[in-house]
Amino acid sequence: MKLNELNDQLSDNSIEERLENLSNIFPGKIIFTTSLGIEDQVITHLIFKNNLNIKVATLDTGRLFPQTYDVLSNTIIRYGKKIDVYFPDYEDVEKMVTEKGPLSFYKSVENRKECCGIRKVVPLNRALNGMECWISGIRADQSDNRHQLDWLEFDENKNIYKFYPLFNWSFDDVTRFVKENNIPYNSLHDKGFVSIGCEPCTRAIKPGEDFRAGRWWWENDGPKECGLHS
Ligand code: SF4
Repeated sequence: MKLNELNDQLSDNSIEERLENLSNIFPGKIIFTTSLGIEDQVITHLIFKNNLNIKVATLDTGRLFPQTYDVLSNTIIRYGKKIDVYFPDYEDVEKMVTEKGPLSFYKSVENRKECCGIRKVVPLNRALNGMECWISGIRADQSDNRHQLDWLEFDENKNIYKFYPLFNWSFDDVTRFVKENNIPYNSLHDKGFVSIGCEPCTRAIKPGEDFRAGRWWWENDGPKECGLHS
């Protein structure tokens, strides 16, 4: 199906209808990758609550916050569903850490991208292998970069449709929905963390700071992205 046909078919749907219709259009070939952040918990809730045939997967980089593992555990218990966990290749991690140390990402952008590549991008590509539709919790107002996206796209590089169910939601919309539906979420969100990634590369933001300012804060220029969505 072409992007414009898919767009026409789904544009008048609610979020839940879009998820269900896509799960029927791409049976067995649709995946949601969750970072276990608060936006992604909304989508996980909608998929699991409605028993949709959508694979839910997450990347364990080996450097996540303990609170993120709490979310993973609490979510599995709450919904009684499976979340596929993808780890990096241990030989690549061993080589990088042995040669460059455990904190190489602070030393240069190149090193940081190498670490994100090994711990995130390669496992992600493994998760996406054979999939035709990829769901992500990206919202437009998370950054200027993300503002340029659309709620439904075709990624030529990865040869996959991408659907952002919460594209037009604000952070307040997300937190309200999570509270109203008693959805498990990362307790760090209550301490000023908005976008939560790996522990050494994430910090809380101050009022008025950009949403992604707490990620790789020592890098001043360029988009705050790890390569998952580029
Ligand atoms: S966010 Fe930091 S620790 Fe995590 S993969 Fe990227 S550079 Fe490595």
